[in-house]
Amino acid sequence: MKKLEQLYEGKAKKVFKTDDPKLYIVEYKDDATAFNGEKKGQIAGKGAVNNVMSNIVFQLLEQKGVPTHFVEQLSDRETVVKAVEILPLEVITRNVSAGSFAKRYGVEEGIVFENPTFEFSYKNDDLGDPLMCESHALALGLATEEQIETIKKYTAVVNETMKEFFLEKGLKLIDFKIEFGLYDGEVILADEVSPDTCRLWDVKTNEKMDKDRFRRDLGNVEETYQEVLKRVQK
Ligand code: UDP
Repeated sequence: MKKLEQLYEGKAKKVFKTDDPKLYIVEYKDDATAFNGEKKGQIAGKGAVNNVMSNIVFQLLEQKGVPTHFVEQLSDRETVVKAVEILPLEVITRNVSAGSFAKRYGVEEGIVFENPTFEFSYKNDDLGDPLMCESHALALGLATEEQIETIKKYTAVVNETMKEFFLEKGLKLIDFKIEFGLYDGEVILADEVSPDTCRLWDVKTNEKMDKDRFRRDLGNVEETYQEVLKRVQK
C-alpha cells in the first residue's frame, strides 16, 4: 500500500490518500487541544498510545458485531482505515457525571447513572460543537432516522463492551465520544477511542486517567497515557 498525498490535517490526526481509493492512512499526532482549540499543547507519545489503543478496542468491537473503519496497523502511529464520509455528529454516552454534563446541570462529578445517557453534539468547530437533539439532526439532514437508530444500537454495544473491557484493566469508563462514518452507504464506527475521547478513572483511587489531566493541568500527563496503554495491552 502506497501512502499518497495528505488529504486533511485535524487537531490530533492527519489523513492520507492511498493507491486504493477505498482506503486511507491515518497518522496520529502528539498535538493536544482542549476547550474548542483554545488550549494547545503536546503530549509526548500520545499519538502512538491513541493509535494502538484505538486499534485494540476497534478489533474487540468488531468481534461484538460493531463494524469499524479499522483495516491494519502499519506502525505505532499509522493505521490503514476504510475511507468513510464522517457524519457530522459527535455521539456521547455517559455512565457517570463529569465534564460538560456536571457543568451544565450544576452537579458534582461522580454521580453514577442507573442508565447510560445518550447525546449528540453537532460537529462544527466554528459553533463550538453545540449539543444537538435528534430532531434537529434530522431537520438538518445530518443523518437519517434509520442511521440514527443504527448509531444508537452500536453505541449501546460500544458502551457495554468498553465498560467491561476497561474494568478488567482497573479503569472505570465514565463517558466517551465516538464518531461514525458512511462506507458503501453503511454506518460504521470511525475516528478513535483513546484517553483523548474517553474519561477513565482508576477503579481504586478514582484518579483521572485521561485528557482531563491535560485540560485541568493535573500533571503526569504523558505518564498517564502510557499507563493506560500498558493496562489496555495486558
Ligand atoms: N469529548 C471528545 N471531544 C469533544 C468533546 C468531548 O472526545 O470535542 C469526549 C470527552 O473526552 C469526554 C466525553 O466526550 O470523554 C464527554 O465530554 P463532555 O461533553 O463532558 O465535554 P468536555 O468536558 O470534554 O468539554
